[in-house]
Amino acid sequence: MIQLKRVTKHYGTKKALDNVSFAIMPREFVSLVGPSGAGKSTLIKLLTCEEYPTFGEITIDGKNIHLINQRYIPYYRRQIGVVYQDFKLLPNKTVYENVAFAMEVSGAPTGVIRREVMKIIELVGLKDKVDNFPKELSGGEAQRVAIARALVFSPRLLIADEPTGNLDPNNAWDIAQLLLKINRMGTTVILATHNREIVDAIGKRVLSFKDGKLMSDRRKGKYKLN
Ligand code: ADP
Ligand code: MG
Repeated sequence: MIQLKRVTKHYGTKKALDNVSFAIMPREFVSLVGPSGAGKSTLIKLLTCEEYPTFGEITIDGKNIHLINQRYIPYYRRQIGVVYQDFKLLPNKTVYENVAFAMEVSGAPTGVIRREVMKIIELVGLKDKVDNFPKELSGGEAQRVAIARALVFSPRLLIADEPTGNLDPNNAWDIAQLLLKINRMGTTVILATHNREIVDAIGKRVLSFKDGKLMSDRRKGKYKLN
């Protein structure tokens, strides 16, 4: 599904990613680990076409994503849900409105939006919070809303960049469980984190990065730095 071939990303003289190659199959759950500055977020920005590689290429289903016409980037991005450490919710919108927003902008019919949004809110376990505002939610609940929002266009790929970075261990583990559940339902998941306990507990494939280099690729991984 996703293939990186000798991907290098320079920021000035800094090599944020250095000659990275790997492939991800459909329905895989892959954790990207490594210390701060290892290149995890850079890799995610390349996947979302926020950044372009200096050398090498990334293909999805055989197509080089960095050759997509600018006009089609919004459509490309709908196939990818992304969640971040800081949730990025709209503070003046309710849980329902936060999740529905992107679908409304896309011009989907109200009935379709309602049905889809309620289904996803139920999936993430927030049915009783639909009319609450972000400031009325715990960190774990806010991250569930962000995940729900990322799922609205039924993406094939869900990317989470340090999603548990602002959460206590219990909430962090709940979010990891939710990502696993979404993966079991058929979505490919990429989780970038430096949370060792979470990665060990998840027990799926682990790619370890250091100084922009891919150090190891473990099938049933434990977090380990070389
Ligand atoms: P991680 O997410 O693993 O903590 P990043 O991908 O954010 O790492 O960063 C990798 C390296 O690239 C770091 O040294 C960082 O300082 C550098 N970097 C990331 N983004 C930029 C940028 N926009 N401009 C310059 N350097 C950057
Ligand atoms: Mg990062």
